[in-house]
Amino acid sequence: MTPAAAAFIARLAQNGFSVDESLAHALSQATPHELEVAATVVDEALGIGLNWAPLVRGWNVPTGEDLADHLATAFANIIIDHGIVAREAMEGTTLPCGHFIPADTFHLERYNGCPFCGTPFHTTDYVFSGQGSRLKELHLATDADLELEMLQLLNNPTPLDATQADSLLLLLSVYHIPAEARVLMKETAMLVIRTLTEAGRDAEAAQLLHTPTDILRYLWYEKTGRLQIIRPKTLLQHTFLVNMHHGVSGSTSAVATEFLRQHLLLRYDRHACRRVALWLNGLTMSARAAAEDMNPHRGMWVRMIHALRLGEYSRRKPFGHLAEILDTFYRHDYTTWQGRLAAARDAGDRDTVVRMLQERPGSFARNLFATMLRCGGESTLQAFAQVADALPARLLLSLANAAESWFEPERSRLARTVTGKMHRMDSHVLLRAFSAAQRHEMSAGVVSIFTDSMRRRFAKMPPPAEHATMYIDPQLFNIPVSVGDRSAAIQDASCALQGTRFGVAGDAVRLFMQWGKGLHAQPLDMDLSCRIIYDDGNYEDCAYYQLTCRGAKHSGDIRSIPELVGTAEYIELSLTELAESGARYVAFTCNAYSRGDITPNLMVGWMDSAFEMRLSEADGVAYDPSCVQHIVRIAENNLTKGLVFGVLDVAGREIVWLEMPFTSQNIESLDIKSVEALLRRLTEKVSVGQLLSMKAEAQGMTLVATSADATEAYTYEWALAPSAVGTLLTA
Ligand SMILES: [Zn+2]
Repeated sequence: MTPAAAAFIARLAQNGFSVDESLAHALSQATPHELEVAATVVDEALGIGLNWAPLVRGWNVPTGEDLADHLATAFANIIIDHGIVAREAMEGTTLPCGHFIPADTFHLERYNGCPFCGTPFHTTDYVFSGQGSRLKELHLATDADLELEMLQLLNNPTPLDATQADSLLLLLSVYHIPAEARVLMKETAMLVIRTLTEAGRDAEAAQLLHTPTDILRYLWYEKTGRLQIIRPKTLLQHTFLVNMHHGVSGSTSAVATEFLRQHLLLRYDRHACRRVALWLNGLTMSARAAAEDMNPHRGMWVRMIHALRLGEYSRRKPFGHLAEILDTFYRHDYTTWQGRLAAARDAGDRDTVVRMLQERPGSFARNLFATMLRCGGESTLQAFAQVADALPARLLLSLANAAESWFEPERSRLARTVTGKMHRMDSHVLLRAFSAAQRHEMSAGVVSIFTDSMRRRFAKMPPPAEHATMYIDPQLFNIPVSVGDRSAAIQDASCALQGTRFGVAGDAVRLFMQWGKGLHAQPLDMDLSCRIIYDDGNYEDCAYYQLTCRGAKHSGDIRSIPELVGTAEYIELSLTELAESGARYVAFTCNAYSRGDITPNLMVGWMDSAFEMRLSEADGVAYDPSCVQHIVRIAENNLTKGLVFGVLDVAGREIVWLEMPFTSQNIESLDIKSVEALLRRLTEKVSVGQLLSMKAEAQGMTLVATSADATEAYTYEWALAPSAVGTLLTA
């Protein structure tokens, strides 16, 4: 081992990581410069070098500040500002932010900034290290591993989550797209097309565009950074809502909305126009089919055709197919399948409805539940079963996951809109016409279509050797298979699947949030808070408006960021105190209080250690990357305003990692029913373990209790690979 490698590994250990043997060997062959680069990457991911000082020094001891202090300070500043009393005539201190703090109010020696307006004056550049009680092992990844990972991400049969999309974009910037890549998901294709068009490889990009909607989706992605087509009106409305707030400094909605409106104006240069004209002209589908495909987004297309000057191109010789498509589109010379389906439905023609749906299995899947209620459960399911094998496995899995709660009239459902907002939706009105037994039969029928189809798919896979065995890690039965739960959080320094349960080793769990890195000093108010829910259904919040409560302490409300290094908030939870007060759950949340979307450069997570975790009395710093159990970065293009990022089960001493966005000003409007519904949904979904059991059964493999001599071993580490679980769904 070279001294540089040994030093690097020792430093990793101080930050909570160990290395396996192959990585240790590889590090010995790295140059000091390469190790330096690697160290920078680790520091960056963990936020080392940023300001981790909160508002209050030694915040484990409450400052005793109360409403009277805030009122007295507000009053003093008002009479000074209005010239009623001279500043010099009063006893107190004037802070750099201009606020006068009267002598008998806040204990200023306890603060790093202004207790009145939350502006920090004192920043730090250190963190603690080496207090963690468990090391997270790092493994060696070679070029071949990364190229394989890229291939798996490209071929992943489910939409990529934020971390996977982030990884794919990084990989695309380094490696060539392998010939074996079969991009299955539209959202993934958009990332690839952007990389290709930026490199001027328009013709290759064209191979990933099959319909006008694909092209529109790409144009919209270029414009908005979003992988789904969200209508301009919806985007504008959403921007208006998230920027509206009831604070005193006035609403920024009008400004933000106007900014987005300007941004959404369509302006394209010659090259971009010609590229799209070529793409449309090169489509293999008929003009009639293309026009029908364009119909659902007719308004957007009319604007696009104008902005891209497609009319001009269609009059030129080589653009004959484009001319035909535009002509059909403008003359409305097509009927839509949707229109014909609606007509049959209105006429009560059940046979035609079901036959038409069979022509389009994807639409059948989306309309399955409602069609079962309208046209009869058994006959609809029979018709659906005939086309089930033609559908992607992820769609069947989504149906199986949704069935149980959908057919339950008492249960409201959680639905996520395209802008990432969660809604609780009432159940279908027709449900009440059916008995509990009938409803159960229907949901069970949906689940068995999924399991039957998966068995057939697994059975078709290359047969394993005779007497083959399979090991499934018991933890995998707690991890739901992720299908399109679009996430906003990027995991740079930890790696876990939603639904993972983390055991708590010590008595304390410390939540942290750091934001504003790389931004200039300005007001930027983000809040870290938590809601403690008791066995009796009551709850208590630990938040900026209540810094201490039973079992929880908050480090103070910061409402402005210092220059470039960001700022931090913490909450310390004591499991002993929580248990004594009868707390059942604690939900961890973070919010943007005044600035529309959650800011970029926000990191949030929690720490835990069997050992005591230090907290600086001098400046309040309480961050130690070696104790971090889970940390995420919020993606830049996230539209949501707040996020529930974990739930602590007090008696079980476990933290469930989840991600539930909500749009609300503060924790007050967090609906605990929503949290419980989401927890329940996590446990009701098809788990990775269940999916593997189906595979074992279909392929005649015997399950064994240890991984050592199993033919196929599925461990938690296996499931962490970005697309390992996805490959099961390509069957
Ligand atoms: Zn101030």
